[in-house]
Amino acid sequence: MKKLAVIGAGPAGMMAAYCGSKNNEVTLFEQNEKLGKKLYITGKGRCNITNNRDISEFFEEISRNGKFLYSAFYSFTNKDMIKLLNDMGLDTVVERGGRVFPKTDKSSDVIKVYERLLKSSGVAIKLGYKINRLEKKKDKFILNDNLEFDAVIISTGGFSYRSTGSTGWGYKFAESFGLKVEDLKPALVPIELDDDFLKDLQGLTLKNIDFIAKVNKKMTYKEFGELLFTHFGISGPTVLRMSNRINRSKNVRLFIDLKPALDYKELDERVLRDFESYINKNISNALVDLLPKKLIGVIINLAGIRPDISVNKISKEERQKLVYTIKNMPLNFKSLMDINAAIVTSGGVSVREINPSTMESKKVKGLYFCGEVLDVEGFTGGYNLQIANSTGYLAGSSV
Ligand SMILES: Cc1cc2nc3c(=O)[nH]c(=O)nc-3n(C[C@H](O)[C@H](O)[C@H](O)COP(=O)(O)OP(=O)(O)OC[C@H]3O[C@@H](n4cnc5c(N)ncnc54)[C@H](O)[C@@H]3O)c2cc1C
Repeated sequence: MKKLAVIGAGPAGMMAAYCGSKNNEVTLFEQNEKLGKKLYITGKGRCNITNNRDISEFFEEISRNGKFLYSAFYSFTNKDMIKLLNDMGLDTVVERGGRVFPKTDKSSDVIKVYERLLKSSGVAIKLGYKINRLEKKKDKFILNDNLEFDAVIISTGGFSYRSTGSTGWGYKFAESFGLKVEDLKPALVPIELDDDFLKDLQGLTLKNIDFIAKVNKKMTYKEFGELLFTHFGISGPTVLRMSNRINRSKNVRLFIDLKPALDYKELDERVLRDFESYINKNISNALVDLLPKKLIGVIINLAGIRPDISVNKISKEERQKLVYTIKNMPLNFKSLMDINAAIVTSGGVSVREINPSTMESKKVKGLYFCGEVLDVEGFTGGYNLQIANSTGYLAGSSV
């Protein structure tokens, strides 16, 4: 039997340690005093553990290096994850968008399942144990100068929510072995704006809008759904998804199409109808049926129209400017929020360094990586935990 060290007890490391224990004597090192500290806060404490859609559709929801995950996803699928939880006595439920949660609504119950798996398979769990040195001497790995192992799995997580323990050790270890680490960027993160109108719009949620980003002069991304204004900028599902698309882009310009279901002509006709109904009112009062109240003044201002002008005095050009602004409300991009506020870290150990069928380093025999430390990331919906579990499974089973 080989001696295997797993560094980091997030979902990836716990799964790797459990699977590795079938053929190896495993020690799992965790710097926190408990297992799965980040896992505990996932899904607002409910843990969206995976997604119920067909595994072949998962790749659409991976925003970086989806192809690299092919073997991992098919070795241990979402259905395998659900079955594992169910077999361990934890029922699951499927919610909107195929999101899977434990029926108890408690992430702590998911952590308990991992704990029971680890204990029953004889994994030695070392809590409050930080690994801060890792070297290879001949064919042995030396941890913290005195612990000797035949193989090591690095599952130290990303670089966000650092209070949970994801402090970036894995990147340092990888670099110390000469492996490439791709630039770290925030992913699934809110966006900061430089717009004075935020003070008027904070708290406003827009539904069924298109959130549009134009980047590097030629690329356009579009996300349909919900967007929320905050005191610093914007958040919500469309914004989080968009952050994954633009986190490496330059010259970002943002827009909202407030009426994506209508084309310009249809919207113009709609505005005309509203103007007819409110012919003797001023413009601010004529848009109440079309736009949320908080937004009316902002849109009129962006369209360059006087807020007190009477509807019957508005020119055709002004009306067309209004229609254009409703379909292209400009937002002044400042930056993505800091990486520490990101739900996941984009970038990490380059997938070109790793054998996708085993998760072993191509350069350093016996050294494996799994989970968020790798340069892979997905959108919300349970995909990031499935990445952790599938890559953890493959790494552990391959040693
Ligand atoms: C608020 C929030 C909500 C989320 N919700 C969801 C969700 O509902 N669904 C979903 O799919 N994803 C969700 N995610 C993302 C998901 O939590 C991560 O992608 C996942 O936890 C990554 O797993 P991991 O095992 O790779 O790393 P982590 O969970 O970060 O675990 C890494 C572990 O390694 C330990 N460690 C690090 N360095 C060392 C060292 N040198 N020595 C010893 N131990 C070390 C850390 O203490 C940590 O416990 C959420 C993330 C956040 C922040």
